[in-house]
Amino acid sequence: MSNYVLREEIKLHETATMVICTSCRKPFTPGEHGVEFVCPNCGKAVIRRCKRCRQLAVEYECPNCGFRGP
Ligand SMILES: [Zn+2]
Ligand SMILES: [Zn+2]
Repeated sequence: MSNYVLREEIKLHETATMVICTSCRKPFTPGEHGVEFVCPNCGKAVIRRCKRCRQLAVEYECPNCGFRGP
C-alpha cells in the first residue's frame, strides 16, 4: 500500500515539472512569466513560450498541426 502511494506522488511530481517551452524545448522556470495559449490555427494544442523566447520573438511550431507563428 505504501508503494502505491509513493508511485502516485512521483507521477504527480513529474507531471508538474513537464512544462516545456514549445520554441526552445527547455523546461519552464516557475515564476518566469512565460505564456501559454491554444494554437491559433487548430485550437487543439497548447503552445508554451518562455520569457526568453517571447522577448527574442522565437517562432513556435504547433505540435498538432505544424502551424508556425511568431
Ligand atoms: Zn523558450
Ligand atoms: Zn495547431
